[in-house]
Amino acid sequence: MNFKPELCCLFGKPVAENPTQPMIEAAFRRHGLDWRYVQFEIEPEQLADAVRGMRAMGFRGGNVTTPHKVAIVKHLDRIAESASMMGAVNCIVRRGKELVGENTDGKGFVQSLRGVTDPAGKRVVMLGAGGAARAIGVELALAGARSLTVVNRSKERSRELAELLRTKAKAAAEAVAWDGDYKVPSDADVVVNATSIGLFPDVQARVPLDLSTLAPRMVVADVIPNPPETRLLRDAQARGCTTLDGLGMLVNQGVIGFKAWTGIDPDPGVMRKALEDVFRVATP
Ligand code: NDP
Repeated sequence: MNFKPELCCLFGKPVAENPTQPMIEAAFRRHGLDWRYVQFEIEPEQLADAVRGMRAMGFRGGNVTTPHKVAIVKHLDRIAESASMMGAVNCIVRRGKELVGENTDGKGFVQSLRGVTDPAGKRVVMLGAGGAARAIGVELALAGARSLTVVNRSKERSRELAELLRTKAKAAAEAVAWDGDYKVPSDADVVVNATSIGLFPDVQARVPLDLSTLAPRMVVADVIPNPPETRLLRDAQARGCTTLDGLGMLVNQGVIGFKAWTGIDPDPGVMRKALEDVFRVATP
């Protein structure tokens, strides 16, 4: 008998609303692994100690969420290429004695998008310029998107991201200031909400968008995982658009992390079902 489970973790603040644990643990059970996934609320000034603890206790890997995605970089031994381009890590993998930082958010999003359209050659409008937007923007650029328009409330942040996409990912990218309801250009193929607008508990918050500029040929994607059916997605469906919820991204980034930690390709259906079960209970 072996009574020593393997451990993975999530570091963030807050973490109580984050549904990663049930999603990953459903896959551990499905694949017969005696592994645990534990979510820790970590203060920024405790992050270095948390990583030391992770090393000392032999954690096999983990995830990192707000507000630690950038700050974690200096505590790890190595950063993978696209994570280093983004300057942010959302996934830690133990390789031998090293803790390696990866970024799977954007890859998870692109995989989810491929289920409805190939990003290659597409004109993308991205709302937001924070961590999720950086990861998605870089991976869309690497997947051959034709152009990226970064629309953000803080102009400085949208300019910085457009610059990063042009210089590091060699993409055609422009920054647009978000003043009032944004009008989506008629030649846009994909619109991504990569802001935190609509995240539980502010489920009625409106993404400032002129809905009449959404056309049925467009794909509208939301990164918000909780609740999965956001106000934006409902509005886009009413306009006839194809929509993509934030659970697909969450599952796909989880699939990549799970494989890196365990060496096993997990069943994405089990992970999605675990999330749907959680939200059926959690949303009114
Ligand atoms: P950040 O804090 O880094 O960025 C937040 C972004 O939202 C910024 O662009 C910010 O604009 C914008 N924003 C927030 N409130 C408003 C508002 N009222 N009006 C206009 N813009 C606003 O967060 P992250 O990028 O890390 O996360 C964003 C969202 O993505 C979160 O809700 C998170 O849950 C989700 N996410 C989902 C994942 C998934 O797998 N489905 C994975 C990772 C994240 P400004 O710069 O002006 O402040």
